[in-house]
Amino acid sequence: MDSTSSGKRVKTIIRYKILINGIVQGVGFRPFIYNLARSYNLTGFVINTATGVEIQAEGNNKVVSSFIDAIQQKAPPLAVILNQRNSEIPLNGEIDFTIRSSKKTESVATFISPDIATCDDCIDDFTDPANRRYGYPFTNCTNCGPRYTIIKDIPYDRPKTSMRDFPLCPDCQAEYDDPTNRRFHAQPNACPVCGPQVELWQNSNTKIECDNSIAETVRLLKDGKIVAIKGLGGFHLAVDATNNDAVLELRRRKHREEKPLAIMVKDIETAGQFAKITKNEGALLTSPRRPIVLLESHIDSSIAVDVAPDNDRLGIMLPYTPLHHLLFEHNIKALVMTSANLSEEPICKDNNESFDRLGEIADTFLIHNREIFIRNDDSVSILLADKPRLMRRSRGFAPQPILVDSSGPPVLAVGGMLKNTVCLLKDQTALISQHIGDLENLESYDVFQQTINHLQNVFETKPELIVHDLHPGYLSTQWAQAQKIPTLAVQHHWAHLATCMAENHVSAPTIGITMDGTGYGTDGTIWGGEILVGDFNGFERKAHFEPVPLPGGDSAIKAPWRTAVSYARHTFGEDLPDLPVFIHQDVVPILEMLKADVNCPVTSSCGRLFDAVATLCGGKPTIRYEGQAAIEFMQAAVNYLPRPFNYVIDGQDDSIIWRIAPIIRSVVTAINQGVSVAELSGRFHSTLINLFTETVKQIRSETGIDFVALSGGVFQNQILFEGLHKKLQNSGFRVLTHSQVPTNDGGISLGQAMIGRAYMATN
Ligand code: ZN
Ligand code: ZN
Ligand code: FE
Repeated sequence: MDSTSSGKRVKTIIRYKILINGIVQGVGFRPFIYNLARSYNLTGFVINTATGVEIQAEGNNKVVSSFIDAIQQKAPPLAVILNQRNSEIPLNGEIDFTIRSSKKTESVATFISPDIATCDDCIDDFTDPANRRYGYPFTNCTNCGPRYTIIKDIPYDRPKTSMRDFPLCPDCQAEYDDPTNRRFHAQPNACPVCGPQVELWQNSNTKIECDNSIAETVRLLKDGKIVAIKGLGGFHLAVDATNNDAVLELRRRKHREEKPLAIMVKDIETAGQFAKITKNEGALLTSPRRPIVLLESHIDSSIAVDVAPDNDRLGIMLPYTPLHHLLFEHNIKALVMTSANLSEEPICKDNNESFDRLGEIADTFLIHNREIFIRNDDSVSILLADKPRLMRRSRGFAPQPILVDSSGPPVLAVGGMLKNTVCLLKDQTALISQHIGDLENLESYDVFQQTINHLQNVFETKPELIVHDLHPGYLSTQWAQAQKIPTLAVQHHWAHLATCMAENHVSAPTIGITMDGTGYGTDGTIWGGEILVGDFNGFERKAHFEPVPLPGGDSAIKAPWRTAVSYARHTFGEDLPDLPVFIHQDVVPILEMLKADVNCPVTSSCGRLFDAVATLCGGKPTIRYEGQAAIEFMQAAVNYLPRPFNYVIDGQDDSIIWRIAPIIRSVVTAINQGVSVAELSGRFHSTLINLFTETVKQIRSETGIDFVALSGGVFQNQILFEGLHKKLQNSGFRVLTHSQVPTNDGGISLGQAMIGRAYMATN
């Protein structure tokens, strides 16, 4: 402790300046600081600044230091402190602690919170008959409610949000102005008097007059109707999840034959009636981010079988807006709530758009007049190896920054084609967009461009480099090359590896096991089953599956039996083994196609190997959604089994080749011996686990590298992921896995951006 100039008295009163950077605006941070400082009897002020929040606090030295500790420990639920700097400054001697208004001229560049599920206090408000918000579906506060989806521009103030159309009534204004109120500066604050309203419409011309649109919606749902419900980040299509006819009708109208549909249920107790829920899964399900969680379903639950046909998992989410909670007040058990779109198009978000795009699907529309600026699908997660893994990172997560270890000029990365996301890398933070979808149609391409503009706008960043996939045909690549900014092409699986390294804060050379469907290779062939060794500056392809022709190219992905023909031909020649799949399908044209080598690009894809083996073992010859063959094959297995099939690891030109024929021959022998599908699947998984582990051990002994990253869509496979993860850990590797971004192509924009940053540092 310093002493005063007299040197006699110990200085007990001090003043600190505390600068905080992160998600600290629009999340109740200033009132939190205000109330905290007052409870500690400190004087000073708190103010929003261009980069976050500045606090000056004066008082007893011990109290000031407890106050500083408490900021981190007690911060409001939506706040994310990325950086905090404390420095002692001269005393000022105010008489109280105040919230100062930010200077109007200052542009406020800070982070925007994701949209967050309704908090318990707000639930109390709209379920209490005595409360002025009783039954009000747009109740929110500084701890919950819409954020990213309603923000058009910065600074984050009501006029820059879709709440600009709703002037606050005196009661709401009083809450908004009171630093001790939970709704102090809550920009979306609203009530039945001044806020948005719901309405029920038959179609764009006919409004349904009724006392309670929400009660009427539930009545229609119970009657088997399909209702388009406008939510937080877009429309859902809802049906009663216990009514199989309604579910089938929805599938028929939506052209979605077999892909599992997500359901929403009232609470975690109800969810427990339909699926097994572990403690960690329960925490994920009830978290304020409210993702869909893929849970192991109970065999005899009352959920309609066609919600998730031939799938032993059920995607469940809990209500995350007051409107959802209110729907479940009317005694309905479970609703299918699937994104309102056709196949992989972007989710529908506007009222008029919904009448146009969903007119053929929905019977009725429950709409509202709060505009959605940014569409945002539900996030999808699963617990693997005891950790939450995102399969789709969107609502509740985007655009929360992900911290990275390097800094440099801003870089924009535009992702791949499937499950596209884009990433804006700014200083030490990566801002990854919401899920945009498959960039295969004009709608998603439009949303892709809007999202890029929006991110650059709200984060006030102009990139100096744009990174895109190596594939010349992707719309994202073409968009990047049309900009007047330098570009860099990055190989797809290298981006996967870099993403995994970045989110695990590793920059040292790492062995990347990248198992995937499709990615354009540096040799112009299709990759997807590789081991790369590299870092953000470069990579080498150390091992890969032997390339096998894909008859008809990408079209074989939807008809895995064709891939099976090719893998069998590669193994046995023109005389295919006597298996049911080859008897029931017209194999001759495929064999001719392969023989003539017409439209048969070769691939080392692990996804295609899965397709081939699954189909040989009796899986469906054609699939209705991405990854279906592999998912159903995996679910047929109890677990991986100790006895692998034969495999051969060959060396060639410094690169290790995993031979296809020994695996396929060994699989077919087992099939002919009458081995069950469960066992075939278990043994195939253990084949891959052993093959990969043996190879990375070999690479470790050559290179001394013991970091291993697991990335690529194939690692959504629970048995492969958990089995390999465990075996590598037991073999002394430091295993890097994805938890903040998806292992599938939804994550690659982050790695692309990190590689772009490294490139800029050296070029
Ligand atoms: Zn709230
Ligand atoms: Zn009001
Ligand atoms: Fe990929």
